[in-house]
Amino acid sequence: MKFSSYEESVNVFFSKGFIINMNLEVLDLEIRSCTLCDLYRDRILAVPGEGPSHAEIMLIGEAPGDEEDRTGRPFIGRAGKLLNLALSRAGLSREEVYITSVIKCRPPKNRKPNAREVRCCLPYLWSQMELINPRTVCLMGNVAIHAVLDMQGVIELHGKIFQNRYLTTFHPAAVLRNRNLMEAFVSDLGRLREFKER
Ligand code: SF4
Repeated sequence: MKFSSYEESVNVFFSKGFIINMNLEVLDLEIRSCTLCDLYRDRILAVPGEGPSHAEIMLIGEAPGDEEDRTGRPFIGRAGKLLNLALSRAGLSREEVYITSVIKCRPPKNRKPNAREVRCCLPYLWSQMELINPRTVCLMGNVAIHAVLDMQGVIELHGKIFQNRYLTTFHPAAVLRNRNLMEAFVSDLGRLREFKER
């Protein structure tokens, strides 16, 4: 199914029948062939996400980078390796979480996605959340926090839980740039276990 506008995509995605008739594999195919915003022009591969289809924990980052663009897999570059290490130190494994991003195609030169690109791509994220139905969702970095909670300021917000479901923390790439954030990042991710243990 191809959409001619953002409004059409929202209408279709939010119609009950579409979600009921969809599964994660079909959604992945939709994302991989999406041309809703201009980011499709420069991508090699879209990056829908990866992980168990009924994961209890979902992690959401900003957008794919170079290696993700080449392979179609999320968080496999240096930031991904740091994320794996942080998850393991927090008592979690990458295999048990579903990982995706607000934006599914790499922005040129890894710039921040603009508001239109976020608006165009968000219905895919809502659909993933609907289909996977995780107990908790970890928003990594300001782009994810703003897209989902309409809040900003990760320095103040990190480690907090909102609506009894959303945990806010740093983006792994920010931790890669500033290793002083690593302990706080691991501690924040450790809070995800609280949901598993309920
Ligand atoms: S970033 Fe999202 S909306 Fe834009 S082309 Fe890629 S999948 Fe489609």
